[in-house]
Amino acid sequence: MKTADQYLESLKSLKIEAHVMGEKTAEPGGHGLVGPSRKAVAFTYEAAHNPESRDTLRAVSHLCNAEVNRFTHLHQSAEDLVKKIKMQRYCGAMTGCCFQRCVGLDAANAIYSTTFDCDRKHGTQFHDRFRNYWAWIQKEDLVVDGAMTDPKGDRSKRPKDQLDPDLFLRVKERKPGDGVIISGAKLHQTGMLNSHEILVMPTMSMRSGEESWAICCAVPINTPGVRYIYGRQASDTRKLEHDTFDVGNPIFGGQEVMTVFEDVFVPEERVFLDGQVDFAGTLVERFASYHRQSYGGCKVGVGDVLIGATELIARMNGVEKASHVREKIVEMIHLNETLYCCGLACSSQGYPTPAGNYQVDLLLANVCKLNVTRFPYEIARLATDVAGGLLGTMPSAADLNDPEVGPYIRKYLAANPNFDVVDRMKVLRLIENLTIGAGAVGYLVESMHGAGPPAAQRIMIGRQAALDDKVDRIKGLLSVS
Ligand code: SF4
Ligand code: FE
Repeated sequence: MKTADQYLESLKSLKIEAHVMGEKTAEPGGHGLVGPSRKAVAFTYEAAHNPESRDTLRAVSHLCNAEVNRFTHLHQSAEDLVKKIKMQRYCGAMTGCCFQRCVGLDAANAIYSTTFDCDRKHGTQFHDRFRNYWAWIQKEDLVVDGAMTDPKGDRSKRPKDQLDPDLFLRVKERKPGDGVIISGAKLHQTGMLNSHEILVMPTMSMRSGEESWAICCAVPINTPGVRYIYGRQASDTRKLEHDTFDVGNPIFGGQEVMTVFEDVFVPEERVFLDGQVDFAGTLVERFASYHRQSYGGCKVGVGDVLIGATELIARMNGVEKASHVREKIVEMIHLNETLYCCGLACSSQGYPTPAGNYQVDLLLANVCKLNVTRFPYEIARLATDVAGGLLGTMPSAADLNDPEVGPYIRKYLAANPNFDVVDRMKVLRLIENLTIGAGAVGYLVESMHGAGPPAAQRIMIGRQAALDDKVDRIKGLLSVS
């Protein structure tokens, strides 16, 4: 298993190029906007070696019969699914941001079972190919970006009816016996520039006639024709300031990237679905369920950070004993632990797929994610309430360090004398980061839209709820027909 340093070195050797804030950047990891997000992924390597967390971060792979980083593990039991949630909560709580490595893990588990089912029905050869590919990922301990979301263009039209067919990523050309050429884009790609590989998946169910859009394949990050355009986050340029005090999270951050595939060749041994429209929806549904489960871990960990910061600022403000503050803190904990309950519940009710790896309970995973679309917002609201208005009006680090006005800031922002005034400002900046700053991309916007928006979860909940069974039971109970 790689160390954090080996991971960082391995990315450097790939010589990735990206467009960041209007400039082509040859080594994006060294860019001030990108660096913190790379450190967050590096943490998933460091934690696999740290005595405190190594057991949580490691698993024994059935593919290579060896210990691997759990972020590359194909779940072999419901217990594995539970451990995944615990690992994600731990990483979220330690970094205070999105650590980006779960999308590839969720993609791998979904592709593993889907290729097995597809081969059984269609006589294709995808599953063994994927096993070989993934054994290599595990052995090399790589980061894989799971790329699902297409731009989708005019939402009222199917892929083939779009004015521009690339608005859904597609196979542009097939070279039998050789590979495929793909064209299109994937939006909102979490941690893309911190990954070694990309697993491209279809964005939704496909129908007959839409074979070109039913494509799943693996692309190395430094493949010619793939372009990366870095996503902005609120207050992101604070990361470029001389003094990064105002960033809020002093070490870690998240990353989202628009990724364009311009006539990219993918050799056959890296193709895991190609035209089997009846399995596009299966793959999407399974991936989405794993990722909806994931949020019951990672968002809870980030919630831990926000709750800790809120309790600390209450103490620093001298209001920690006020009954309404106690009530709000308890409410934050209640909401956060409810999300954790959901993450654990859908995991512990996991079941084996015909391929042998474990799938989460679909209904409970969707309930988990639907709660995630709401509770972090309420937790953030309560944090804002307890923190006070200074959260939105505090002077900059530059003024704090200014010999003329700095003393006034120290004098007038003093609160509970047991705490240093600058420490109080640091805590406020962290709360600001998570509620309205760069960290809110991962903690709030992604909680709403990541792994699909609330409407998608409601559809799945409606489908999975076995309503007819409930109705039949009522009929039996009341002897009515
Ligand atoms: Fe992992 Fe959460 Fe980030 Fe998704 S949002 S990659 S589940 S940390
Ligand atoms: Fe996500």
